[in-house]
Amino acid sequence: MYIGHFAIAYVLIRLFPGIPPLVPLIGVGFPDILWPVLIFLGIEKAEINPDSPLQKYVRFTSYPYSHSLVISFIISCFGGLLLAYAIYPIAGAVFVIASSSHWFLDIIVHLKDVPVLGFRPDKKVGLGMWNRPKMAFAIEYIFYTLVVAFFMPANYVLPLIILGTFGHLINANSFLGFTKTNPFKSSKQYAMLALIGFIVFSLIANYVLGG
Ligand SMILES: [Zn+2]
Repeated sequence: MYIGHFAIAYVLIRLFPGIPPLVPLIGVGFPDILWPVLIFLGIEKAEINPDSPLQKYVRFTSYPYSHSLVISFIISCFGGLLLAYAIYPIAGAVFVIASSSHWFLDIIVHLKDVPVLGFRPDKKVGLGMWNRPKMAFAIEYIFYTLVVAFFMPANYVLPLIILGTFGHLINANSFLGFTKTNPFKSSKQYAMLALIGFIVFSLIANYVLGG
């Protein structure tokens, strides 16, 4: 999931207006910012399907640190502690809440590959909405736009919807399969797009929100 995560950041920005918007914006994407780093280091593993760009064919074979409920939460607490020290305690707490929200949204779309504990004996979960890619594409977009429309002040609604539309369209091939083969040649290339995508989206949204 991509733009859907940012909807949660917007809710947190409204609930905690005193906190720099970048804290929840980076927080909601933290697992997907950590994941590419661990893929580059060879600590976590994924395989793309060269014959299809569809998200459902990406095999997330091992990502216990970035994407488990328990270990990812513990890692996010270290980030939270740093922010609590650097800014103030509630900023650290908001970062941890934002990062934890990632798992709950990811399990809606991912196939049964999302770890709960991150260590043995583990269980993997996922409701698999990516198996119905057109529906998943529509629902993620509707969720994002509804949250923006209901939670954000009127002057931010249009720029955030434009930003979300742009971000979602960049991701469209992985839902709608415009290309016959996968434009990504390796999991590292795919991970690089995730890293850039989450950081750039966060920075632009932060700019729009005057952070
Ligand atoms: Zn994720």
